[in-house]
Amino acid sequence: MSPGEGANADRIPLIAANWKMHLTASEAEDWAGRFIPLLRDRAEALDRRVEVAIAPAHPLLDRLGRALRGSRVHLAAQNLHPEPEGAFTGEVSLAMLEDLACDFVLIGHSERRQLFGEDDAFIAAKARRLEASRVRAILCIGETLDEREADRTLAVVDRQLAAVLDATGAGFAGGLVVAYEPVWAIGTGRTATPEIAQTVHASIRRTLVDRLGDRGHGVRILYGGSVKPSNVEELLSQPDVDGALVGGASLDPHSFAEIALACLEMP
Ligand code: PEP
Repeated sequence: MSPGEGANADRIPLIAANWKMHLTASEAEDWAGRFIPLLRDRAEALDRRVEVAIAPAHPLLDRLGRALRGSRVHLAAQNLHPEPEGAFTGEVSLAMLEDLACDFVLIGHSERRQLFGEDDAFIAAKARRLEASRVRAILCIGETLDEREADRTLAVVDRQLAAVLDATGAGFAGGLVVAYEPVWAIGTGRTATPEIAQTVHASIRRTLVDRLGDRGHGVRILYGGSVKPSNVEELLSQPDVDGALVGGASLDPHSFAEIALACLEMP
């Protein structure tokens, strides 16, 4: 298979929820209590055909983790600090996430880049921290509307991806998940067309294969940006779209379950 061709049957789709700064711990428990039964009769198929992860705000991780126990749904965090510990008020370390049994952590989300000034070097440092950990990175990359209009989309996502690949080795790449999230589609109700998503995902795949060889075919590339039950199937039907990162629509357990279950309908 040549780079960019996609369609790797070994890539199990990942559907990940990003709850951002929404819900309290008791609301999260209630959410899990309503969500898990929606998957239950499909649990075996889900295991083989789709992985599901939830990234709540940090104070919710412990109680949500307990509520999800035994459900096969992964716990994910929204952020970590690159340093192992120290005087970083308000920040969260990798050891804290490991202790809470997180399987994934988001790094490079556009809200962290834009609202909290995180640059490529800082995000690469977080990736380096994850190298020897079992917590896997979901690396978010994507262009702003200005960058898209200036025809710089592929250059921007390539730069964001290269910053992390340059800083890390094979151990990190083995667990890496990439999420392409065009900034203009996040929380706006505007979704990239399946063709736009596939074009960018194929370019990301080419970079991954150039840099990692065959292992690049195994890296999952999620699409994120106003994904909902009504558009998930057409996005997932693209050969290099290996799942979704879902913000707003994940707050409702029914819509998030519909999005996860859509993977079972795919050929
Ligand atoms: C996100 O913030 O990661 C996201 C994809 O949000 P939404 O689905 O609300 O656009």
